[in-house]
Amino acid sequence: MYDKNNIFAKILRGEISSNKVYEDKFILAFHDINPQTKIHVLVIPKGPYIDLNDFSSNAKIEEIDGFIRGLGKVAKILNIEETGYRYLVNNGKNGGQEVPHMHFHIFGGEKLGKMISK
Ligand code: 5GP
Repeated sequence: MYDKNNIFAKILRGEISSNKVYEDKFILAFHDINPQTKIHVLVIPKGPYIDLNDFSSNAKIEEIDGFIRGLGKVAKILNIEETGYRYLVNNGKNGGQEVPHMHFHIFGGEKLGKMISK
């Protein structure tokens, strides 16, 4: 069950403020409150999806289309297209997902290390 009181749902409803990068009908992108790299932005769908499994199974094609296209728009706005960047999606418990509203992290603005550090 989707938790309507998760922090990103509250950001979407405007109950908690965020440092917005981009917003349209399908997505909201905002800076992570605890950035792990020089640029660390979160991209979330506006619909109530818990994780990527939920989103890919249950979102309408327009929402999926809007989300994927939105990821590219956000990278463009952040001016990291040329230098490169990384998307990361934590999914579920083993994936380390803390907020149960599907989100992509965008990391950039510096040279990123290996994919996974142990
Ligand atoms: P997860 O571990 O679920 O993939 O990532 C959740 C992310 O949300 C973390 O990087 C965390 O710093 C970020 N975060 C948690 N609460 C807030 C908040 O209230 N505002 C913003 N902008 N980011 C948040």
